[in-house]
Amino acid sequence: MKGPAPNSLQALVEALRVLPGVGPKSAQRMAYHLLQHDREGARRLGDALRGAADGVRHCARCNTFTESELCELCRDERRDASLLCVVETPADQVMIEQTMAYRGQYFVLMGRLSPLDGVGPREIHLDRLLARATDPEMGGPVQEVIVATNFTSEGEATAHYIGEMLKARGLKVSRLARGVPVGGELEYVDAGTIARAVMDRRSV
Ligand SMILES: [Zn+2]
Repeated sequence: MKGPAPNSLQALVEALRVLPGVGPKSAQRMAYHLLQHDREGARRLGDALRGAADGVRHCARCNTFTESELCELCRDERRDASLLCVVETPADQVMIEQTMAYRGQYFVLMGRLSPLDGVGPREIHLDRLLARATDPEMGGPVQEVIVATNFTSEGEATAHYIGEMLKARGLKVSRLARGVPVGGELEYVDAGTIARAVMDRRSV
């Protein structure tokens, strides 16, 4: 904490560096911008960060972000409880919802297996996925699990791991059909292609 910058400015610059891809220079630029041109925006940002950090948690059933015990989708009794779709992120879930081709429930991994980055089965909550898929009390009974991880190498490895884990428990497991390009991330694929991939899914 040396130099001419006031302590709270220094603290702001350091705090901004928690954002992915933000180094010391860009953190400093952001801090100067907020203080010089947008005090009101800075206050809003601060309030929004505190509100979200304190208020948002993981759905007890599907693991997505929510502000209540169960998310809206998990509370919706019109959803088909026999189908469970596994996605990497809430954004992927939104993509599949937009296709209108799927009326089952979800489990959101909040990541994918990535051993080199230290992300293993525990980090993506596969124990909770297993409980979700096999425990009728959790919203089931689930009859088919559709693995809709991305078609990247990490997404495929994750799909394989999940498939083996669930098949060992006697569950029917399917994977989105090809059509989503190899290396493709659902987030960037059009809804029609995803809808076809859901309908043409194949057993694994
Ligand atoms: Zn949920």
